[in-house]
Amino acid sequence: MKFDSITIKSLDHIFHAIDEVVFLIDQQGTFKHVVRTSQDFLLLPPSEFIGKHHREVLPEPISDQIEESFKRLSASETLVSFEYSLNVGNGTDWFIARIGKIIDDNGSLVGYVAMIRKITHKKSMESGLVRKEKMLEAIAFANKELLENTNLTESISNGIRELGIATGADRCYLFENGFDDEMGEETTSQKYEWNSGSAAPQINNPDLQNLPFSAVSDFVEPMTKRVPLNAIVRELPDGGLKEALAAQDIVSVLLMPIYVQDYFWGFVGFDDCYAERVWSESEINLLKSYAVSISSAISRKSMEDDLKRSKEIAESANNAKSAFLANISHEIRTPLNGVVGFTSLLSDTELSEEQRLFVNNLKASSAVLHSLIADILDFSKIDAGIIEIIRSQTELRTFVSEIENILRYQFSKDGNQLILNIDPSIPEYILVDSIKLKQVLVNLLSNGSKFTSKGVVTLSIVPQNEVLRFEVKDTGIGIKPEDLKTIFNPFVQGDLSRTKKYQGSGLGLSISKKILEAMNSEIHVESEPGKGSTFYFDLRDYEVVEQEKVQAENLSGDRTYSDLKKFKLKILIVDDNEMNILLASMVTRKNYPESEIFLAANGFEALEKVRQSDFSIIFLDLHMPGIDGFQTYQKMKALRPDLCPVVALTADASETAKQKCLDTGMHGILIKPFSPKELNDMVVKCTG
Ligand code: ADP
Repeated sequence: MKFDSITIKSLDHIFHAIDEVVFLIDQQGTFKHVVRTSQDFLLLPPSEFIGKHHREVLPEPISDQIEESFKRLSASETLVSFEYSLNVGNGTDWFIARIGKIIDDNGSLVGYVAMIRKITHKKSMESGLVRKEKMLEAIAFANKELLENTNLTESISNGIRELGIATGADRCYLFENGFDDEMGEETTSQKYEWNSGSAAPQINNPDLQNLPFSAVSDFVEPMTKRVPLNAIVRELPDGGLKEALAAQDIVSVLLMPIYVQDYFWGFVGFDDCYAERVWSESEINLLKSYAVSISSAISRKSMEDDLKRSKEIAESANNAKSAFLANISHEIRTPLNGVVGFTSLLSDTELSEEQRLFVNNLKASSAVLHSLIADILDFSKIDAGIIEIIRSQTELRTFVSEIENILRYQFSKDGNQLILNIDPSIPEYILVDSIKLKQVLVNLLSNGSKFTSKGVVTLSIVPQNEVLRFEVKDTGIGIKPEDLKTIFNPFVQGDLSRTKKYQGSGLGLSISKKILEAMNSEIHVESEPGKGSTFYFDLRDYEVVEQEKVQAENLSGDRTYSDLKKFKLKILIVDDNEMNILLASMVTRKNYPESEIFLAANGFEALEKVRQSDFSIIFLDLHMPGIDGFQTYQKMKALRPDLCPVVALTADASETAKQKCLDTGMHGILIKPFSPKELNDMVVKCTG
């Protein structure tokens, strides 16, 4: 059967029902028949196809696909399909071709039927969906960055990069607005840019920095009204904006304003440099949501910056206050040393009854002044965060009796009884910062006695599981419930009406609290006005020293101070302060009448003295002009490797200073103001 003899016309209505453009092609590839349906997208009339080979009318890539389809059909396939595109006007149309075989009654191949459908809409829907999905992913990433990355610059540039890739834009960037004082006008500058690589980068373009609003009013104008600028450059009216965009090879652009608390902060932009893009409304909405996220991140960052700045200001003010307190109390220590020392010397001289009364008052006042200064210095150091916990082997029972000794005088003065309730199962030796722990307990017990009259103050130490519970309970005046919350705050003295009656700095409890915090403990209080108060804490920061590991204590030997009186000591006192020299020499001369006292007003004089003779002990002030105590010590040591014991004199009560002295090899340290007894004890320790 010949092709021409087929009553093709009779098949037309079937093809119409299919609603696709149908071509009948003979075995050689020549168009024989064209059926136009409602889907009429043919660029040429049917007469241009009929009788022509497909290569004569179709573009080569499509013809190649047709040939390929024929081959596959001749093999075994029954239906072959492929998609292709054609440029039409300003855009591209997509088609799907399905090609099948035409077989005659004898089963021989006589030609092909090609059914063509236009799928541009479906295609663009599909690619739009894919792009939207990519954009959603990119926006989720960019938002996560803004929320989680603490570096705002980095989070914005990472987000912009992902959005640039997802949207397929050629450039994606962020501009930040500012104000130029010289021009007296608002400006905008490009801050970040992502570039696909196919368009020239603009980040270093000086023309895009400090652009005055007036020069770019065309595109800034809508954004100042919160409206995005979405433009196809070709369609823009001639003028500045069109020229500026064209100069950067931009064919379409989308600019999304960023508002931070009603202030036009800047904008994110997307450039296309090759194909004109029509942004869909949903895409624009997605990008708007990103602009809002940037704006929240900027507000959050500026709030954080403000907070940080106020914190820094507060901290620097607090540090300045602490440094001032530390300095001033350090400066007060030196003259106070004179007051305490000379008062003590004076009280040992022959005095009339009236003079003794005065001296005793002087002694009591200087003792109070001393403890106040010590409190302020401690507080300022603790407040500045300088709190060192140094643990050493401590025999608990000796520790408690030392506390008892310190407080004996106060308790008898206040008419109170100190009861010790020490659980027999407490460990014998522990590793603990005994100096700090003693400071806390002495403070609590001394408060207990201060606020109790003719009553009882009990110190209990009871082991509880892994901790040691320390408790100080008094039968005194108690604390009002409303004061309980504030008594641990610095400079708080509870009921003000009674502060005049009870001396104090209002720092003791806050120092104790901070010390215990540094030791990983928390202080608690329970109190009932009129009945008494109980302060307690659980000590965790300690270690039991097993019996076999107890180190022999560095005892000062059996020699006592009265033995020393008989010895002829050669004592060198080095201090630039005349009063200190006088005081130290008076105390030593009085206590060791057989001894020789040598004086040096500075490090150089001291070195000269050490070169000339041997000494039994040297008292060395650390703070001296010229060469300081540490340098003097080192030079002395270089002169005489077998140097006698050296004791540092200093007003710096910090652990660091103490440690530094011991590290350099000095034998001990006396903190000003020191009492004659402390000085004697040191002589016993060093010469024993
Ligand atoms: P100071 O004793 O130097 O005033 P503290 O910080 O040691 O400073 O104490 C703060 C305040 O807490 C005291 O002024 C007092 O009002 C109250 N307080 C402390 N301990 C007791 C106590 N055992 N009994 C009653 N009040 C106390």
